[in-house]
Amino acid sequence: MVDLKTQYEKIREEMDRAILETVASIKFINGPAVKKFQSELEEYLGGGHVVPCANGTDALQVSMMALGLKPGDEVIVPAFTYVATAEVIALLGLTPVMVDVDPDTFNTTAALVEAAITPRTRAIVPVHLFGQSADMEPLLELARRHNLFVIEDNAQAIGAEYTFSDGSRRKTGMMGHVGCTSFFPSKNLGCYGDGGAMMTREADLAQRLRMVANHGQERLYYHDMVGVNSRLDSIQAAVLSVKLAYLDEYNAARQRAAAYYDAAFADIQQLKTPFRQHNSTHVFHQYTLVMRDGDRDALRQHLAAQNIPAGVYYPVPLYKQKAFAHYWAGGELPVTEMLCRSVISLPMHSELNSAIQDQIINAIKTFFK
Ligand SMILES: *Cc1c(COP(=O)(O)O)cnc(C)c1O
Repeated sequence: MVDLKTQYEKIREEMDRAILETVASIKFINGPAVKKFQSELEEYLGGGHVVPCANGTDALQVSMMALGLKPGDEVIVPAFTYVATAEVIALLGLTPVMVDVDPDTFNTTAALVEAAITPRTRAIVPVHLFGQSADMEPLLELARRHNLFVIEDNAQAIGAEYTFSDGSRRKTGMMGHVGCTSFFPSKNLGCYGDGGAMMTREADLAQRLRMVANHGQERLYYHDMVGVNSRLDSIQAAVLSVKLAYLDEYNAARQRAAAYYDAAFADIQQLKTPFRQHNSTHVFHQYTLVMRDGDRDALRQHLAAQNIPAGVYYPVPLYKQKAFAHYWAGGELPVTEMLCRSVISLPMHSELNSAIQDQIINAIKTFFK
């Protein structure tokens, strides 16, 4: 699904040097490499504050802790997402309230969220799924009206940009109170292990995020709150500094590969190619097709038989996962159900070329013949 080996080979010299310099510095924890990456990412995001942490799941958890969410508070999340989003909500004793998504964008909308708001709702977690921003302007407006926190799950969309109706633009992760991202190796900006970060435009909140991620302390050995230990290590930060310089290039390569797939599948009636929202760029963390009719699993097996990997993100609605059954009052969310049955994601990464894509495309075409 991804080709990190070829990507590494192309930047090998630069990367090896950065890693070895960090090792030689012996500043493995909170070393200068972490500060350097932090300020580079802040600049990339157009200002604000970045708080690095150990992974994307921690970023979500630390955010909810820093915002002071308390057991019993309801947090609205899409039912069609990666488990981490809802997991940390449950872990903190908060109540995940799962809502449906839009069939075109796969993201939740203000209308769907609004219908789920109760007097106990404290926060919304829009997920910018597969690389495209949720439609944030109406979501932010809704959150303002109901006095809710907005925590963006930006693990799949770093580098994407959203355009507001007044023409102003903002990077995903920088629109709500806090944005959370993951540097898992296969993400658009991935390190060589685990990593994550929180981003915010509010200095006070950045301070609290930093404190929660560092055992609740600002001053060493003085703990003002119960926190966690969540750090990005220096070697991963050095890797990320090297790769951040290529992020726009990598995302552009993904967009070109997506356009190539789009053109190839345009005349296959049974396949719906990814929708492009007018007010967001798409950085294609995944290239996800919806199978309009026919057997998605049969297509996947057909591809597997030719050694072509394909992914199903996600096969089960969150509320039907055993771990979350407890939060499910019954009743199905129709779009989430439909997507879990019919989505299929093709190999998508910065190193695709037409020769590789043609193999994948031909295999798919023979299935529909
Ligand atoms: C990857 C991912 C996460 C979690 O990131 P980790 O670094 O693996 O903890 C959270 N949310 C979404 C949508 C993701 O894709």
